Amino acid sequence: MTGDALAERTAALIRAQLAMPRDRVHALTTANLNGKLVESLDLLGYLRDFVAASGIELTDARGRRYLDFLAGYGSVPLGHNHPAVASAVTAAIGAGVPHFILMAPEALPAALAARLAALAPGELSMAFFMSSGSEAVDGALKLARAVTRRPRFVAAQRGYHGATFGAMAVTGDARLEVFEPLGERALVPWGDVGAIEAQLRKRDVAAVILEPIQAEGGVNLPPPGYLADVHRLCQRHGSLLVLDEVQTGLGRTGTWFACEREGVVPDVLVLAKALSGGLVPISAYVTRPELWRKAYGTLGTCELHCTTYRGGPLACAAALATLEVIEATGLVARAAELGDAIGARLRAVTAGHPLIREVRGRGLLWGIELATSRDGVAAALIAQWLVVGLLERGIVTQVTTLAPTVVRVEPPLTVEHAHIERFAGALGDVLASHANGALASLVGVGKHLLKQRLAAVLGRAP
Ligand code: PLP
Repeated sequence: MTGDALAERTAALIRAQLAMPRDRVHALTTANLNGKLVESLDLLGYLRDFVAASGIELTDARGRRYLDFLAGYGSVPLGHNHPAVASAVTAAIGAGVPHFILMAPEALPAALAARLAALAPGELSMAFFMSSGSEAVDGALKLARAVTRRPRFVAAQRGYHGATFGAMAVTGDARLEVFEPLGERALVPWGDVGAIEAQLRKRDVAAVILEPIQAEGGVNLPPPGYLADVHRLCQRHGSLLVLDEVQTGLGRTGTWFACEREGVVPDVLVLAKALSGGLVPISAYVTRPELWRKAYGTLGTCELHCTTYRGGPLACAAALATLEVIEATGLVARAAELGDAIGARLRAVTAGHPLIREVRGRGLLWGIELATSRDGVAAALIAQWLVVGLLERGIVTQVTTLAPTVVRVEPPLTVEHAHIERFAGALGDVLASHANGALASLVGVGKHLLKQRLAAVLGRAP
């Protein structure tokens, strides 16, 4: 078979798989990926087959269109299939560059590292690229160990840093106990400077790792001065400050990096999600040359932290294009402006509603917290009811991973005022549809169903 014929065959293969009937997609997912995911989406009323996407719009298999106010949890900053990102990736393929050669300096990772060095605050000019946020967090933790030769890490409860072993160790999620032992770490209450100081005084802490705004923990803003205080304490006690901007970085909160707003330049800054442009996964940490030299600055150590996908050309092309689009179209300032608009609309629509506890956020990252019940289960169910109600009205959102009573609102940076109006209208409509009696019975039935189904899923008696 000729090369052309093979290429046509593989392209036809992809087109055929994409046209697969939806029940077959579900069956294969159940057999070979994660059947419980399909089951739980179905149980929650959240199962949709999204088959196409362009800009802020998702289309399902029935041809129904939705506004994507989740944006891949922040990893689709420019909307889906942005032509400028696709064009950069195509240009890299068209140039016939070598992939993953690893043993030669390469133009695209070099250009991307230089671009990030120019964008990042302070002296954060040394970059290391990987594929996921979790890996980049691991890389940052390894750097901190190698620099300080200290064993422990300090992180915040409800901070989310990822799924690899290092990232899990600093993630404040009690459910992770099945993976213990997770190493030497202390998880302290978010916003509590004294708790961090008590840990740092032991002088065995390699790094404190925090998100500038906790995203998966429920969109928790830092108390005023918190990050600056923690930074000062880290400097005093010889520990590094790692700021995880996997979700907040690259314009999401109305500044290029959320730490700028706090007046803090960390020792290590972690990026992922948005850097991909929604097309090719890539993550990075950036740090100061002095720290990089300490950890990896000899011929014997310069490859001590190393991965195959440390800056593939397609990923770097997508990232370079993404930064270019964000800058050229002024999306950072826009995120601040439209974020204010979302905040104002959210407050107006939810004001005084008995189901709403608080709305909070910055830029284009917002959380709607539902009123809590004694066990929190009712609020989590109401949050899910809100998410499903929005979905039925053509808006995609989701609750935050570690705080299921909070609905996150995280559209692409390219969102427009008209989209925000549609979202606010749908939210007001769902909230208006609640009647205390009906909702109470829904929560009662929901609790019962959830217990039954969870018991079935977990294979235990309810
Ligand atoms: N850090 C933060 C703040 C995140 O929000 C996430 C993912 O949601 C991660 C790290 C992990 O990134 P990934 O899922 O790409 O491994």
